[in-house]
Amino acid sequence: MNYFDLPKIDLHCHLDGSLRPQTVIDLAAEQKIELPSQDPAVIKEMMVAPETCPNLQEYLDRFALPIQVMQTKESLERISFELFEDAAKENVKYLEVRFGPQLHTQQGLTYAEIIDSVVKGMKRAEALYDIHGNYILSLVKLLPIDSVNDIIDAGVPFVGKGVVAFDLAGAELDNFAHDYVEYTQYAREQGYRITIHAGEQGCGQNVYDAIELLGAERIGHGVAIKDHAEAYQRVKEDVVGLEACPSSNVQTKAIPELKAHPLNDFHKDGLAVTINTDNRTVSNTTMTDEVTKVMEQFELTAEDYKQIYTASVEQAFASDDVKKHLMQFV
Ligand SMILES: [Zn+2]
Repeated sequence: MNYFDLPKIDLHCHLDGSLRPQTVIDLAAEQKIELPSQDPAVIKEMMVAPETCPNLQEYLDRFALPIQVMQTKESLERISFELFEDAAKENVKYLEVRFGPQLHTQQGLTYAEIIDSVVKGMKRAEALYDIHGNYILSLVKLLPIDSVNDIIDAGVPFVGKGVVAFDLAGAELDNFAHDYVEYTQYAREQGYRITIHAGEQGCGQNVYDAIELLGAERIGHGVAIKDHAEAYQRVKEDVVGLEACPSSNVQTKAIPELKAHPLNDFHKDGLAVTINTDNRTVSNTTMTDEVTKVMEQFELTAEDYKQIYTASVEQAFASDDVKKHLMQFV
């Protein structure tokens, strides 16, 4: 099977984990940020996490350099454009990118300016390539909670026009969902769809709570439901989309190795499993790589891929028109 040519959908990709190394060098020069090297290979090494990290912090540290250069409108627009361009060039037909507006205010940008910049970059790529996309506003859980509603408000004018959903990301403590009920409720009232990182580092109960308390329609990762019958049943009954990110899950030790990933068991049992990159640079991957790894590891057939692709279309927070377009590729 030619995995490069397959139509692909990525529903879980972080903007700040998906920068081109040369772009970091260019932007650092423009912004007078000193880098230890001008060699893209060295810069790439600073951003790529080891294949298995000793701990989650090792993985998260890889985002420090990208965040430094992502503090101007121009850099956000460019990085967004390039991410969609890179995805389009490997036959990704639909891409949902998430990012935390709170991380990009260091030089005084407003949340509205930040969101506008990334949406502009995406739209520029949509006009040039056969790709469609949307943005998800991610709240990084350890950052101050009092600005959450300001972020949600800033995104409202973009809802349905480039922004579609709200997400909670960052370190996963047990029972975190209880602290965010009012915020996700507010986001839903403002027209946002909800996806939540849960059951990655944390327990299956977090997945159950994300659905029950926060109204999650999709779950980022969710591998922990394999050990939690109630959460598993709830995901199955509610047809909650599971955003599997195979390489990232190995890197962060959410699973010990790829062959231990429960995504194939989930898929065989009829759960709505999708395959995603998480971070193209930090996980040193592409959609082609992720699809190849999964198809080969679990010896999936063309029919399996068709089911996974179809589940991805159904789970996408895209308009009906875009979904119809995406189904043409099946
Ligand atoms: Zn993620």
